[in-house]
Amino acid sequence: TISLIALDLAGNITVGVSTSGKPFKAPGRVGDSPLPGCGLYADHTVGAAAASGDGDKIMCYCPSFQIVQLMREGLSPKEACCSVLADIRKRTGEHKCFEIGLIALNMKGEVGAASSVEFPYTFWNQGMDSVEKHVLSY
Ligand code: ASP
Repeated sequence: TISLIALDLAGNITVGVSTSGKPFKAPGRVGDSPLPGCGLYADHTVGAAAASGDGDKIMCYCPSFQIVQLMREGLSPKEACCSVLADIRKRTGEHKCFEIGLIALNMKGEVGAASSVEFPYTFWNQGMDSVEKHVLSY
């Protein structure tokens, strides 16, 4: 999945995902990507979040909604992503955690991410000469 979160100067925020091709795709399967709260969620008063990875398992946790709720309570995007991932790890067992990558942006334009696998993401804000590239290791 490629997830994109965009915030404009007028305070509009949006999130979109373009899900992958064959992996996990049985005929008729929807997956987590288009489901609000699972693969993506945005609230213009708080921020937005997106998830990628093993969608059948991701769907059980509504991680994007949970991240936005935690940001509403005051957590930074990074803290919110880490908190949701920690909760999933606790429920699945640290070493059995499935593939999941989480990313979030708040209305201040702060970004954060957490992942159970190596997870690349980029960030750009006006005034920056170039895109920041990050790779989370696990
Ligand atoms: N989450 C997607 C799905 O399960 C797969 C992906 O992240 O590429 O449909």
